Amino acid sequence: MSTVREQLVVMKFGGTSVEDAKAIERTAAIVRGRRDRNLEAVVVVSAMAKVTDQLLAAAAAAGRDDKAGALAISARLRHRHIDTAAELLDGERFVHLQPAINHEFDALDDLLRGIAAVGELTARTNDLVVSFGERLSSRMVAAAFEQRGLQGAHVDARTCIVTDGNYGKAVPQEAAIEAKLAELVLPLIQAGQTPVMGGFIGATAEGITTTLGRGGSDYTAALVGGGMHAGAIEIWTDVNGIMTTDPRICPDALRVKTISFEEAAELAYFGAKVLHPATILPAVQKSIPVWVLNSRNAENEGTKITALAPRCASPFKSIAAKKRLTIIDVVASRMLMSHGYLKAVFDVFDKYKCAIDMVSTSEVSISLTVDSNEKLPEICEELGKIADVKYEGRKALVCLVGEDIRGHNGIAGQVFSAVSHINVRMISQGASEINMSFMIDEEDVEEAVRSLHKHFFVDPDETVFDVAARVPVAVKA
Ligand code: ADP
Ligand code: ASP
Ligand code: MG
Repeated sequence: MSTVREQLVVMKFGGTSVEDAKAIERTAAIVRGRRDRNLEAVVVVSAMAKVTDQLLAAAAAAGRDDKAGALAISARLRHRHIDTAAELLDGERFVHLQPAINHEFDALDDLLRGIAAVGELTARTNDLVVSFGERLSSRMVAAAFEQRGLQGAHVDARTCIVTDGNYGKAVPQEAAIEAKLAELVLPLIQAGQTPVMGGFIGATAEGITTTLGRGGSDYTAALVGGGMHAGAIEIWTDVNGIMTTDPRICPDALRVKTISFEEAAELAYFGAKVLHPATILPAVQKSIPVWVLNSRNAENEGTKITALAPRCASPFKSIAAKKRLTIIDVVASRMLMSHGYLKAVFDVFDKYKCAIDMVSTSEVSISLTVDSNEKLPEICEELGKIADVKYEGRKALVCLVGEDIRGHNGIAGQVFSAVSHINVRMISQGASEINMSFMIDEEDVEEAVRSLHKHFFVDPDETVFDVAARVPVAVKA
C-alpha cells in the first residue's frame, strides 16, 4: 500500500458529532455525501460526548472503593447507549445490537467490581475502562450506517492500532499499524464497505488495551490516513474549523481558511483543543491534506491545513491558551552556568518523565514551566539538593501563532501593550519563530485572550480569514 489512495478519505467524528441519535444521523448523511461522490471512506469515531469523562470518574470511584458510585455511572451510560441505539435502529437491527451493548456493559461492571475489590486503579486498568466509550460508539455508528445503506463494517481499533505499553499515552507503532490496516481494513474498502472504528484506543502487540491520550481520536484518524496513504483526512467537530481563538472565549472569533501544518501543530501543542497535537505528524510525513469541518454545518468550507501557509497581511493566525501549568524557579547563585549544571537540572525532569514547556534563564536563576502533575513535590525535592527551588501552580500560557510574525517589526511591543494591564511572568519567542508566548495567572486568561484578539483581528486579511461570517458582538451602552 505504498501508492496514494487518492479516492480514500479518513473521516473522524468527535464526541459531539456522535452525542445522540440526531448527531449520528447527521454523521451518516455527511458520509453518504462523500460516498455519493464515489469516494471511499474510513470512519473514526470518538466516544459519545462526555462519556470518556464519565468512564474516568467511574474508574476513579471504583479505585477508592466506591463500588456503588462506579456502578451507578455505568448504569446511566448503559441506558444512554441503549436508548440511542433504539432511536437509531429498526426493530430487527436493535434486537441484534442490544445484547452486544449489554454484553459490553456487563464486562465493564465486572471490571469496576474487580477494581473496587482490589482497591487499586492502575494506569493499565484505567485504559481498559475508558476504552469502552469508543468500543460502544463505533459499534452503534457502524450499525446505523448499515441500516442507512452505507454498508458500515465495525472494526475493533485494538486489532489495528498497535502501540507500546505506555498506558494513558501509548506510542503508536506505525509500521505494524500500516500492516494491520492493509490486512484488516483495506479488504473491507475494496468490498465497497465503510469501515467504522473507535479512535483513541489501541492495543500492545500482546493484545493489552491502551489509549493514545485525551483527545486522541484525531491522532487515530491521522494514523489511519497515513497508514493507508489516504487522499485526505477530515476532522469533523462542533465549530466551523480552526478559529482565530477558542470561540468559547471570543464569540466573534473568525474561521481561518488555510493554515500551515507548522502553525496548526504549534496551536494544538499550546492548548487549542480543536486538534490533538500529534495529529499533524503522520499527515505531514505523507503530505496528506487535513481539513477541520463542522458536522453541524457541513456546508461550511472549514479550515484546510497544508504544507505551505498562504501569505497573510496579519502577523498572527490564531491565539491559544493552555491552563493548569506550574512555574518552577530554580535559583543557584554559585553554580549556575557552570559546566553540566543545566544538564543536572534537566535530568531531574527527565527522570520523572515531566515535559518542560518553556524555559528562561538569567545570571542566577532558571524558570521552567511544566504541566501541573502529582510528581512535582518529588521533582522539587530532588532539585532542592542542587539549588533553591520554588514552585507556583495555577498558571497559564498564552500563545500567538503565525508564520508572518517574521515579516512584522515591533510585534512584541504590540502584544505586550495589548496586555499591559495583566501581570506577565515569563516571555518566550520559540526558535521556530512562528509563535510568541507568555505566562500569566490562570484567572487572567480570558481577559488576555480577548484583549489580544481585539487588537490583532480588528482588520483581518480577507484572503485568510472568513471575515464575511463575523458574528457582531453586542456593544454595551
Ligand atoms: P471533538 O469532540 O470534536 O474532538 P473538541 O471539544 O475536542 O471537539 O474540540 C473542539 C472545541 O475546541 C471547540 O468547540 C472549541 O471550543 C475548542 N477550541 C479551542 N481553540 C480553538 C480554535 N482555535 N479553533 C476552534 N476551536 C477551538
Ligand atoms: N474520547 C476521547 C476523549 O474524550 C478521545 C477523543 O474524543 O478524541 O479524550
Ligand atoms: Mg477533540
